[in-house]
Amino acid sequence: MKALIKDKPVRGATFTDRPIPLIGDNDLLVKVHAAAICGTDIHIFQWNEYASSRVKLPLLFGHEYAAEVVEVGKSVTHFRRGDRVAADTHIPCGHCFQCTTGHQHVCRDMKIIGVHTDGAFSEYSVLPAACAWKLDPSIPDEVGATMEPFGIGVHAISKTKPAGKKVIVFGCGPIGIYAQMVAKLSGAEYVIGVDISKERLDLAKKMGTDIVLNAKEADVVSEIDKITHGFGGDIVVELTGNKAVLNDATRTLRRGGEIVLVGLFSGPVEWDVVNNVIYKEATVYGVTGRIMWDTWWTAQSILLSGKIDPSPVITHTFDLKDYEKAFPLAESGTVGKIVFKI
Ligand SMILES: [Zn+2]
Ligand SMILES: [Zn+2]
Repeated sequence: MKALIKDKPVRGATFTDRPIPLIGDNDLLVKVHAAAICGTDIHIFQWNEYASSRVKLPLLFGHEYAAEVVEVGKSVTHFRRGDRVAADTHIPCGHCFQCTTGHQHVCRDMKIIGVHTDGAFSEYSVLPAACAWKLDPSIPDEVGATMEPFGIGVHAISKTKPAGKKVIVFGCGPIGIYAQMVAKLSGAEYVIGVDISKERLDLAKKMGTDIVLNAKEADVVSEIDKITHGFGGDIVVELTGNKAVLNDATRTLRRGGEIVLVGLFSGPVEWDVVNNVIYKEATVYGVTGRIMWDTWWTAQSILLSGKIDPSPVITHTFDLKDYEKAFPLAESGTVGKIVFKI
């Protein structure tokens, strides 16, 4: 099968042939139809510190995908050949405290598809049945491939009660835009999206965000002060993972507000906790991945309601062999989701 492999500890990847993998008793063999590029894949492609400290080479990467089941492991009873599935990236151990109390997504012994195990930038992939989500027939492959990051947006907003609230989202990458769309759907008074890319801000606006602010052109803290008449945001979602943004983001939060941290910072951050959290009596949430499977049910219901169409967030599709065009575009920080059609 054709596969995109990370095989050298330098920037890039190799498009090559690999044998179709064998599955275990609890796995599915799936034929991949669409696979999206995620921030993690960019790290792996670039081979930066984040990737080199986590990934053992060689690795078949890619973990946001939609596929069709072609073979079912002996112990799997709830999937059949021909089922369409999406993957949750988290492979939970299934028996630790977190796994047995409904928090599989923060399993103590978790592995990540396409980071610790071979992923899905390939024609076929092994998917543990415990990580497979049956896709509704009305959800197209490309959208199915983005349900994983869409779920992060759903999970982030689900921590809060956005109805009638001023919601500010720092970061208008795909997850940021999904979070903005879900906040709008949930009845926010208005949603403000902040980014430094004009293209991404335009996309956020197109997807229904009320106000967009370009942090390159405006002093975002004083702009938000003006917009909210000195009130500040009830809910702030941090999705940039940029250390310099965190303090500004917290400054826009009103006293007694809620801040959701989702973006991954590259190492420890300096945060004015006294003024921005303690004296504000702010509530801080950390969010990672999706709750299995609570978030997926919610994400599916939102898609089936037809009230959100996330497909325009997919701004580019490529053949897998054109990965050398796709990755630099993904790195540019000016596009939405990029999906490989496989
Ligand atoms: Zn991802
Ligand atoms: Zn576990």
